[in-house]
Amino acid sequence: RIVFVNGAFVPEDEAKISIFDRGFLMADAVYEVTSVLDGKLCDFAGHVARLHRSLGELGMPSPVNDDELLAIHRELVARNGIEEGVVYLQVTRGAHDRDFAWPEGLKPSLVLFTQARQIVTSPTAAKGLRVISIDDLRWGRRDIKTVQLLYPSLAKMEAKRRGADDAWMVMDGKVTEGTSNNAYIVTRDGTIVTRNLSNDILHGITRASVLRLASDAQMKIEERPFSIAEAQAATEAFSTAASSFVMPVVEIDGVAIGDGSPGPVARRLREIYIETARAQAV
Ligand code: PLP
Repeated sequence: RIVFVNGAFVPEDEAKISIFDRGFLMADAVYEVTSVLDGKLCDFAGHVARLHRSLGELGMPSPVNDDELLAIHRELVARNGIEEGVVYLQVTRGAHDRDFAWPEGLKPSLVLFTQARQIVTSPTAAKGLRVISIDDLRWGRRDIKTVQLLYPSLAKMEAKRRGADDAWMVMDGKVTEGTSNNAYIVTRDGTIVTRNLSNDILHGITRASVLRLASDAQMKIEERPFSIAEAQAATEAFSTAASSFVMPVVEIDGVAIGDGSPGPVARRLREIYIETARAQAV
């Protein structure tokens, strides 16, 4: 695999980052994951906009401009022959002798790599996900896409240990989001409910696109928190993320949602999202 590290495309085993890089020592880094369909980038403008927001919130400069960012993504996809999969991008604050405070003018590191993956014809999407609920013990700025992924990783491992696929995190009795996705339910009257944007959740790029498509299709949407009990009583549940699009959720804490199989709203949104993302990919 060819990866991109600080200005160069190199084979992955030749890529080098300093052990003093603050991304490695302090999780002082932000990232983006962009999906690839037909060798093209989905929702790219949204991912670039959120990257700038994450960088801005942490006072990190962007290592390259937007045209260069697109060119690097495209070249990496081409060099690795990726037709379907994802591009992972990470910007860290840079390397410096270990200290909580950092000096002005650190040079950020930029790393990208690709992962070939079947996202459209996913066996999990056909089956639906089983999720558990777990306390949300993450920090208070989940709207910034940092690489502090230890807690969601532990939550996902706990889900696997309990024979489930993912965990929905809960704060003050309400679902925040999945370990790496936004969470939704569909109520008995067909309303799509998903938590409102705030510092409590990541502002998903797929979430924004899916809500726009749902609204275009005249579906009713409510952006508000919901509980696990409400989700268990819903007719459908699903999640969204760039790396999985729309994923039906069929069970929460051992309780089947609806009839326990992927619901029509989730399946329809998945189809519309894939069709639109494909048509608008760059
Ligand atoms: N929420 C969390 C915690 C995530 O890590 C992710 C994506 O990785 C999402 C939501 C979905 O965001 P997006 O649709 O931009 O991939």
